[in-house]
Amino acid sequence: MRALLFPRTLMASAALAALMGAPRHTLGAQAITLPNQGAASPRLPKTPATTPPSGTTTGYWQQRADYQIVAQLDEARGLVKAQGALRYTNASPDTLRELWLHQHLNAFRPGSRWSADDEAKGKERFQRLNDPDHAFERFTAAPRVNGQPLRFSYPLAPDSTVVRVELRQPLPPGQQLEVQLSWEARPSTVLRRQGRRGRHFDFAQWFPKVAVYDRHGWKPNAFVAQGELYGEFGTFDVTFVLPADQVIASTGVPVSGDPGWERVRLPGSAAPDYARRAYGLAGLPRAPRAPALKGYRTVRFVARDVHHFGWSVSPDYRYEGGQWIRPRNGRPGWDTVALHVLHERWSPGRTLGDARHALTWLESLYGPYAWPQLTIAERLESSGTEFPMLVMDGEEDRSLVVHEVGHQFTYGLLANNEWQSAWMDEGFTTYQELWSRGEARVPLAAQRAARQWHDVVTIPDSAVRRRVRAVEAFTATIEEATRLTGAPPLGLRSDLFASKEDYDAMVYDRAAAMYSALHDVLGEERFRVFLRTYYGRWSFRHVDRWAMQRTAESVTGTRLGWFFDQWIDSTGTIDYVLERPTVVRAGDDSVANRPKQWVVTVQLQRRGAYRHPMPVGVRTASGWTVVRAEPLPDRQTVRIVLPEPPMDVWLDPFGTVESRTTASSRFVLF
Ligand SMILES: [Zn+2]
Repeated sequence: MRALLFPRTLMASAALAALMGAPRHTLGAQAITLPNQGAASPRLPKTPATTPPSGTTTGYWQQRADYQIVAQLDEARGLVKAQGALRYTNASPDTLRELWLHQHLNAFRPGSRWSADDEAKGKERFQRLNDPDHAFERFTAAPRVNGQPLRFSYPLAPDSTVVRVELRQPLPPGQQLEVQLSWEARPSTVLRRQGRRGRHFDFAQWFPKVAVYDRHGWKPNAFVAQGELYGEFGTFDVTFVLPADQVIASTGVPVSGDPGWERVRLPGSAAPDYARRAYGLAGLPRAPRAPALKGYRTVRFVARDVHHFGWSVSPDYRYEGGQWIRPRNGRPGWDTVALHVLHERWSPGRTLGDARHALTWLESLYGPYAWPQLTIAERLESSGTEFPMLVMDGEEDRSLVVHEVGHQFTYGLLANNEWQSAWMDEGFTTYQELWSRGEARVPLAAQRAARQWHDVVTIPDSAVRRRVRAVEAFTATIEEATRLTGAPPLGLRSDLFASKEDYDAMVYDRAAAMYSALHDVLGEERFRVFLRTYYGRWSFRHVDRWAMQRTAESVTGTRLGWFFDQWIDSTGTIDYVLERPTVVRAGDDSVANRPKQWVVTVQLQRRGAYRHPMPVGVRTASGWTVVRAEPLPDRQTVRIVLPEPPMDVWLDPFGTVESRTTASSRFVLF
């Protein structure tokens, strides 16, 4: 346990501390250990966390969390005052006696684990921020069930990102309870995903978010810099009370009231498509009572089947809207996605075009985007973060849009536990981003093979040559990172990576290399079937490594444990060498109609830790013939029969495999 670096001054009394969301040292909190935490929790999960033994969705369950909230922005105090109800449905087979909540904004303040990590790593962000610059999220009244206050505590004190709430009555399987919540949430002036500057507020986190309860129990991890997102699906029904001139970007559909878009619509932009048709307004619950304040207006957003809810406001937002019309057989399609872009400084039209580009590309991989709207909002911090239906980006950039909109699928709809398996969402969206730019090995190698362009230097198309060089450089970087002493495996729990840099190198780049290798193992057609099957089977659900692996196995009809085990649980590189090629001329010249044959045999030896079905190519006057070796043997003989004399034998002549060493295995035969 880390020392308390910056004691708080707010704790006038235990009771006040409880109300203020600060830690209570008096509730026997020391006796409570967090579930699924610490040394007892596996560094690498060996059994499924969410996937049932069937390996499919048969027997799968997840909890449900429906929120109804009224949130008033108090700009003078830099915070939102909110009250609402969490209706929690226990769909598990277990009786629950407690709830675990997150108050994520408490990471961005002195005393948090995030701040302690920063301090240990010599990074200055939140640990010395004073009031009113640091963030907080605190209850203004104890959580209640049927009007009865519940006991709650902060077992990780002084960190207050995790709250344990004791239930007065156990919650049996199949039952619901409703928790009344009142709280205040303030972003920090130092930006990290969330933040505020002037009248611009980015609310990435802001509500008491119930931790996930899955097959392995509660997952209430402290919020640190690596791995944040894991939530329960449900409906968010949020009524905002905003200063009259504020403009909002949000998760969800604005079912009533004015989000402010029409007033700040850029010339030439289409009128906003509010997409109110999406939720059949008659089926909505009654709107909660919101205070009617002078100079304020209300707008109500509803989002169904989401596991988080983000929003941003700025009076300087300009609005551009449109629709993405899903093409069907090349003609205008059967439904649309409303698009909203809110920005202060961006070029008109650019990000809207990027959003259309991203949806076209991503739907070609997965299938239909499953929510009624997509919003891209300019945030204060650079780079980007994803929330369901909402992307917050710091700059205009097509690749950034493709990356973050990609998260709508891997994170938003295929909802992995990012704290445990960030390689699933970050790795895949990084890979699809490279792929969308033409910088993925497998499709690039297919282009080279179709044109017989094996030698990078002599590839006549400069664009292809440039892409090949980008791919080679990417592989070189990853192999370098992997060779570094102590490079951790991809599957390591996020908080156990030594640094954010290590975490990024592994769960983004190295995981992208893993997906490239999977693309190659499955082949183009089956990889695409795998993506569509995985999305079709598992969207709106929690996914883990087994959901992915079993889907890939069901598509290929083969066991793929060897592939996922090596990439996720261990480190290594793909490194094979070809040895001792021989050529035997077969056939008989003296017998009429007996075709001549040349048989090339060559030894293939594994040198790296990873196994892979390596391509071996032989060139004749007509071009290259490529065969695949078996993935599992350490040493094997590869035999290739040809109708004409072989000239060269190369390992992986078109550069399909994530390996730099193949270039050393080249032989001239004639
Ligand atoms: Zn990402």
